Amino acid sequence: MSAASRPRRPAPGRTDPPTPAAEPVASSPPDREPKTRSREKLPFLLDFFPLDTADQTRLSAFYDRLRAGRLSTTRCPKDGTLHWPPRVACPDCHTEQLDWVDLPEVGRIYAFSAVLAGAPLGMESDVPFAVGLVDLDGAPLRLFGRIDGRPWNELRIGQTVRVDTYDIGDGRYFYRFRVWDPPDGR
Ligand SMILES: [Zn+2]
Repeated sequence: MSAASRPRRPAPGRTDPPTPAAEPVASSPPDREPKTRSREKLPFLLDFFPLDTADQTRLSAFYDRLRAGRLSTTRCPKDGTLHWPPRVACPDCHTEQLDWVDLPEVGRIYAFSAVLAGAPLGMESDVPFAVGLVDLDGAPLRLFGRIDGRPWNELRIGQTVRVDTYDIGDGRYFYRFRVWDPPDGR
């Protein structure tokens, strides 16, 4: 789930922010707010709504568990299907009575790439950094995420990583992967 693909629609009970198209193009009043907000005032990620709480999403357990350091997803108790990303209903049998299960904390890099430019909002100063696909040990899931803990050009396919949960800066949590190798003495 990348920042760019997070849902943009406002949650119930919230008001749409004014869109540029809805604002007058010319003859702005002199006391009007500047059009360009400073970078410091923008959120860390390009999502303007706190979508992780129970009144915002039925998947709030996912974020609650991230806050407790656990990466989890849903599993269907009827057919055993493990979902990713977590679901509110099983895509196979459509039941909404799903179990929450913690995912393995260790995985192996299946593929990776480096972000050298055009990083998501809030991550500009981290460039370059790595993103990749990780196969979790003991679970039939391949997850996309950022990979930290080693310069991108020192990563390799098959390298062991661990799930790392972190505060994105406003109290919400998300996950990354972090290279998990014995110290190499450098
Ligand atoms: Zn099912």
